[in-house]
Amino acid sequence: MAKVVKFGGSSLASAEQFKKVGDIIRADADRRYVVPSAPGKRDKKDTKVTDMLYACYELAEEDKDFSKELKAIRARYDEIIKGLKLKLSLDDEFDAIENNFKFKYGKDYAASRGEYLNGIIMANYLGYEFIDAADVICFNNDGYDVKKTNRLLAKRLSKCERAVIPGFYGALPDGSIKTFSRGGSDITGSIVARAIKADVYENWTDVSGFLVADPRIIDNPAGIETITYRELRELSYMGASVLHEEAIFPVRQEGIPINIRNTNAPEDNGTWIVESTCQKSKYVITGIAGKKGFCSINIEKEMMNSEIGFGRRVLQAFEQNDISFEHTPSGIDTFTVFVHQDEFIDKEQKVVSALHRLCNPDSIDIEADLALIAVVGRGMKSTRGTAGRIFSALAHSRINVKMIDQGSSELNIIIGVANADFEEAIKAIYDIFVTTKL
Ligand code: ADP
Ligand code: ASP
Ligand code: MG
Repeated sequence: MAKVVKFGGSSLASAEQFKKVGDIIRADADRRYVVPSAPGKRDKKDTKVTDMLYACYELAEEDKDFSKELKAIRARYDEIIKGLKLKLSLDDEFDAIENNFKFKYGKDYAASRGEYLNGIIMANYLGYEFIDAADVICFNNDGYDVKKTNRLLAKRLSKCERAVIPGFYGALPDGSIKTFSRGGSDITGSIVARAIKADVYENWTDVSGFLVADPRIIDNPAGIETITYRELRELSYMGASVLHEEAIFPVRQEGIPINIRNTNAPEDNGTWIVESTCQKSKYVITGIAGKKGFCSINIEKEMMNSEIGFGRRVLQAFEQNDISFEHTPSGIDTFTVFVHQDEFIDKEQKVVSALHRLCNPDSIDIEADLALIAVVGRGMKSTRGTAGRIFSALAHSRINVKMIDQGSSELNIIIGVANADFEEAIKAIYDIFVTTKL
């Protein structure tokens, strides 16, 4: 049996946290492959090492003195080494980093050192082999190279009983370092689990699993025992940031379950993320998540529903300007497109003129500062009145619903509200499905 265990930044922010992680790994001999993140925040006001590295490298790139910033990064690691009483010196590593910063090895190289150094410490602490992710996680121009990575990892790990592989980065064919997007150590863990066909991918973080709603919005939200890959995909795409939205794909290929666990409460069972389950979720909904920062472009034209190709032409105006769309609710004479405001804002007038040229609409109306909320649940399909309950809860809280979109899988309902109503709307939906049932 083999388990891949990934530990997030807050789980590895200090020597004290490292000790908890060590205890967790030693408690189960199957926890053979460890994927660490860089040290995260020790408290709310602290800075993640990854952010310190980005800031430090920015100075290097501008040919400014970065010695103070690099020293502060070094202090984070030395504090951990000292606290763990390890006989380990990072002198050579920091000399190389300083040099490579001066030679402008790149932003990705800089950020990757957070995981790289933490991996060296973790391997030393556990007595496991250290495998540099640059040797086994391969990127090409389209992203990560699945075949090559699988082959290299499977070969290397078949010869190695226990190892530490740092998360977040790999290398391009020319050897230069490339990282995933932020939070990407979750993806590394999933890739390693897939390559060795692990029995479980354990993802250890600072909450006891996936919660019904974001704990930063709802006080002490209920936990989710079991969730399907599809439900999770919907929630993480919509901002439930506990797991990187791309992290499920590698394990999904092999049907490997993910178990989200809490480093600070290892006795909790956490959440199981599985392909399919006969277990009913505790509530009608499985979870709620959402994101702010959208805007809607509402296109009106009489009789548009009988105009063949109208929808295609609308979307063409966005495609031509390299803008992806989120949702397209439509009525008889209206067609609305939801887009990310930050992507749209600079191209707004170009899109509007393209829409006029391509669609000849009666009017175009743009509304900014909107939020989208996804209410997700495999149980919604078989429960009548779910949408009704959502809308009466929102009406009760005097929240104006701007948009509703129900996926044809009946797995989710997406609701558009003003940014300013975002938190209140999540609270209202949570209360109607969870609090009133408790
Ligand atoms: P790590 O550093 O371990 O990778 P992250 O910060 O990436 O951890 O993810 C864990 C955080 O995700 C939690 O501390 C919590 O604030 C946030 N979060 C947002 N939505 C949810 C949710 N639905 N359930 C649990 N945590 C959530
Ligand atoms: N350290 C990286 C970040 O802060 C990757 C990760 O933590 O997963 O984004
Ligand atoms: Mg994370």
